[in-house]
Amino acid sequence: MKTVNHRRDIMIREHLLGRDIRDPAVIRAMREVPREAFVADELAAFAYDDHPLDIAEGQTISQPYIVAYMTEALELSPTDRVLEIGTGSGYAAAVLSRIAASVYTVERLEGLARAARQRLEMLGYTNIHGHVGDGTCGWPDHAPYDAIVVTAGAPHVPKALREQLGIGGRLVIPVGASSYLQLLLRVRRIAEQDFRTEELCGVRFVPLIGADGW
Ligand code: SAH
Repeated sequence: MKTVNHRRDIMIREHLLGRDIRDPAVIRAMREVPREAFVADELAAFAYDDHPLDIAEGQTISQPYIVAYMTEALELSPTDRVLEIGTGSGYAAAVLSRIAASVYTVERLEGLARAARQRLEMLGYTNIHGHVGDGTCGWPDHAPYDAIVVTAGAPHVPKALREQLGIGGRLVIPVGASSYLQLLLRVRRIAEQDFRTEELCGVRFVPLIGADGW
């Protein structure tokens, strides 16, 4: 029987370092956050395997590599304020909170948001703030953000998210014409009206549902 620590070491070595995740802060955060606490008890044994896992309400928690890859793509520094759209289990928010100063996370499904809040409180993550609502509108109260990450697939980049990105900020978002297959984009806000977009890789996320989504 492999211990949780042993499984976590394999995840770090094979699925992250072995696939070119290099940012030491990301590796440290992925080592620190107990992924098994974010899934149902019967899935805990699979928590460190390299694939997504079901949470509740037909939603999924991304595979560890994708969480690490997206987090690295955000180029975070310790003073950053981060907005996450799609709280889900709260796992990615927990990882982000170990690297950035504060995390604001929005979830449209009340039940998931509540469960994530309880879990994050229990684990003692105090720099994560949750909100129930349509994340395609962002969370204007705390804007601008240094980084924004969307963990659901969008038909296009929602306008509000561009607007809530600070100058120099990075937005990482899966965008695609099919609601289950997307291209991961990184949008940088160079100046007030100047945005640069890079294509990172192909990904598969559940749909971003909302006023400026699907
Ligand atoms: N980051 C999560 C996984 C997210 S799965 C984790 O680490 O567990 C995608 C989540 O996005 C789902 O929970 C889904 O309900 C949510 N979602 C979809 N559309 C949304 C929207 N418009 N606003 C906020 N959340 C949304």
